[in-house]
Amino acid sequence: MRVVEIESEGSISRSGMNELDYCLNPYLGCHHGCTYCYAIDMTSKKDARDNWGDVIYVRKNIARNLASDIKGLKRGMVGISTITDPYQSAEARYRLSGKCLKLLLENGFRVTVQTKSPLARLDFPLLSKYRNYSDIGYTIVSADSRKTRLTEPHTPPPEARFRALMEATALGIHTWIYFGPVMKGINDTPEDISAVMRWASLSRSRVIFDFYRNYDGSERAISKSGLNPKYMAGNESWKNEVSGLIRKMAEEYSVEVNSEQEEWLIERKKAFRTLF
Ligand code: SF4
Repeated sequence: MRVVEIESEGSISRSGMNELDYCLNPYLGCHHGCTYCYAIDMTSKKDARDNWGDVIYVRKNIARNLASDIKGLKRGMVGISTITDPYQSAEARYRLSGKCLKLLLENGFRVTVQTKSPLARLDFPLLSKYRNYSDIGYTIVSADSRKTRLTEPHTPPPEARFRALMEATALGIHTWIYFGPVMKGINDTPEDISAVMRWASLSRSRVIFDFYRNYDGSERAISKSGLNPKYMAGNESWKNEVSGLIRKMAEEYSVEVNSEQEEWLIERKKAFRTLF
């Protein structure tokens, strides 16, 4: 992996996602290199886009910028991160996500963290302290590490994510599992779904699910890996069938489940607004 340190302007940005007011991305590019990643097309650095997973840019001064950018900024929900994994291996050295998380929580923002890495443990004490203002979600496409490897070349194994979720829950941190993207022929069997629901039940995590969508960058990356992105995206009848299965199994495991598009995200945002 090639790591490029940069001094860049800005830190926190307005988010176009319903559930977020702001997003913050300390790195550009992502070493995890997931082939289904929509962020490939949204990454401003061409060499990080063209060599997805092999080149990352480190925004070295982001915490310093954030400290001044949040002065006078309306408080709201911040997503860390939306186009990179905030706890990819570089975080062990730079701790940019940790510094920004601390600044945001200490200044009255609410933060939702999404990752695939147990390295987030470094910030569990902070998330636990600010448990009413934060949550953490782990993306798990499958509990089976062989299946996970089909689309995630460099991510920590799913078992390690589950163990981190269990630890977070034990510390009183709100947790969720992002079961997605669901891809036809990869992670859509009853066994796949049941295993994720079991982990959600054990770790008392909500589940959010979503289906794979084709983007130029992910189509290229998936095709290069020898899989068929058009097939993996499925069709409406397959999505309806799998959604039904997900909801049925969630009920069996007494797990709260919602599709990404569902209202609850917006509701959650409204609910937490009263805290600021
Ligand atoms: S961890 Fe997230 S941001 Fe990183 S490559 Fe995978 S999907 Fe993209």
